[in-house]
Amino acid sequence: MRASQFHISTLKEAPAEAEIASHQLMTRAGMIRKLAGGIYNYMPLGLRVIRKVEGIIRDEMQRAGALELLMPLVQPAELWQETGRWELYGPELLRIKDRHGRDFVLQPTSEEVITDIARNEIHSWRQLPKNFFHIQTKFRDERRPRFGVMRGREFTMKDAYSFDRDEASAQKSYDVMYSAYMRIFERMGLTFRAVAADTGSIGGSRSHEFQVIADTGEDLLVYNPDTQYAANIELAEAPCLIAERAAAAQPLTKVSTPGAGKCDAVAEMLKLPLSQQVKTLAIAVEPETAGQPVEIWALLLRADHDLNEIKAGKIEGLKRGFRFATDDEIVAHFGCRPGFIGPIGTAKPVRTIVDRTVANMNDFVCGANEADFHYTGANWGRDLPEPTLVADLRNVVAGDPSPDGNGSLAIQRGIEVGHVFYLGTKYSSALKATYLDETGKPALLEMGCYGIGVTRLLGAAIEQNHDAKGIMWPRALAPFEVVICPVGWGKSEAVRDEATRLYEQLQAQGVDVLLDDRDERPGVMFADWELIGVPVRVTVGDRSLKDGVIELQGRRDSASAKVEVARGLEETL
Ligand code: ATP
Ligand code: MG
Ligand code: MG
Ligand code: MG
Repeated sequence: MRASQFHISTLKEAPAEAEIASHQLMTRAGMIRKLAGGIYNYMPLGLRVIRKVEGIIRDEMQRAGALELLMPLVQPAELWQETGRWELYGPELLRIKDRHGRDFVLQPTSEEVITDIARNEIHSWRQLPKNFFHIQTKFRDERRPRFGVMRGREFTMKDAYSFDRDEASAQKSYDVMYSAYMRIFERMGLTFRAVAADTGSIGGSRSHEFQVIADTGEDLLVYNPDTQYAANIELAEAPCLIAERAAAAQPLTKVSTPGAGKCDAVAEMLKLPLSQQVKTLAIAVEPETAGQPVEIWALLLRADHDLNEIKAGKIEGLKRGFRFATDDEIVAHFGCRPGFIGPIGTAKPVRTIVDRTVANMNDFVCGANEADFHYTGANWGRDLPEPTLVADLRNVVAGDPSPDGNGSLAIQRGIEVGHVFYLGTKYSSALKATYLDETGKPALLEMGCYGIGVTRLLGAAIEQNHDAKGIMWPRALAPFEVVICPVGWGKSEAVRDEATRLYEQLQAQGVDVLLDDRDERPGVMFADWELIGVPVRVTVGDRSLKDGVIELQGRRDSASAKVEVARGLEETL
């Protein structure tokens, strides 16, 4: 690819709503452009990475014996009614009507349709096992789309579904997928962890999530560094909830305040030594609904907020758990299980925000969820100790004994990029998907489902691979593996010739190379490619050509290397 024929559209500034590095950098690099909340255009540069992600997934799925098909984005309501998910799925399921008034959904996942296919297509044990997958647009009307492609409403998922004759062979299919996922994320060059997961509303009994390790992740993982034990904090069996409370040296102190959870209690706290920018913080909890995640909204009130407005009840959120409707609001939220709500636990989502907003804040008021009490001493400043693990809100700390009885626990944040589920007969029984076994009797198909967040992976990879200048793609995902930057393209024939020769040579070698023939100044070119994150930059200039060399700069390396022109790049790249 030549830059003059490509669309390079980098930005100096990220949009204000981009809270985390990957969202900022994907926008600044020109990979995505927002169309509506949680809905993005994937620009040519972004699409190149998506195709690389898909390529690796496709390759490993096929290697694992899965068969690609393609199920429609629009699915008839009847199938969803048959499994009961038409009612159960809730507002994340986008329902539409056609011109005849018939109900349809935009698929958030495809268990219904694939099971319908299976009941029509699979008749005999001889046809089993089978694993079908597709890479398709999904739509989930997420309550709070954010972080760019990380939590979109429209996004791309690879979803696979296995069909087996009995549980033992279904478990084998699960294991095959588990290994395929390990290979997929390894090939992508990501640091990740497979953790036992909550099986939640999809049902089934065995489930693992593949979590890319990143501080901005929305999930919390407990793991035992010495053993295989690792679980998402949501996991029902994990007797724990994260709480980033103060270290032992600075314990949480309960302070009695009248009407905790109300605005006046917050106002009362203002005399505490908070930073200039932020006066106080309040946390509001939505009423619990059995079995539903509880939303917790945290509001940071800035020093210039008008307390009269607060008192006049304009911050309804403090009572109702909804948003504080001014531009100055800084809102955090996270899902949490009912019963896990407590004065300490609510600290969790606030940290990230405080980290970015308030320097050196180390004394703070929190709470608003226990009658007549707030807490001080929650250290939400920069120099936090390792997050603290709390079992049922009792004071258990990181380093506590691991549930597997071996060593102690540590905690990490993660981004869920993949999820494997053993489903059993949940969908096959609802949709009566049977096959004839060896004795000629009908039996229910045993199923598993396996998802990967294709577009989310771009964000996750960037969260793990960036610096102040921009993205640092792992080579397997990079939109281009090598960029050739000729210095003086317009002026020097020698530079043009050598750059073009290298370009053609690398192309012939099968390297994904871009020649920057825009005739830009080196500073402009370098800044663009550092932002975009191309792993290797080759600079060709008159001065170095005179010495018979070109310059090679790895995106992650501080020093560059000189390579003799005569040697070419075959060995180096
Ligand atoms: P989350 O817990 O983040 O909401 P999920 O558990 O609802 O994800 P699954 O139903 O397991 O998601 O879907 C499989 C994969 O699809 C997830 O592991 C994730 O990588 C991806 N995914 C889910 N929701 C989104 C979204 N809103 N935007 C982008 N990717 C998503
Ligand atoms: Mg979800
Ligand atoms: Mg999840
Ligand atoms: Mg999941």
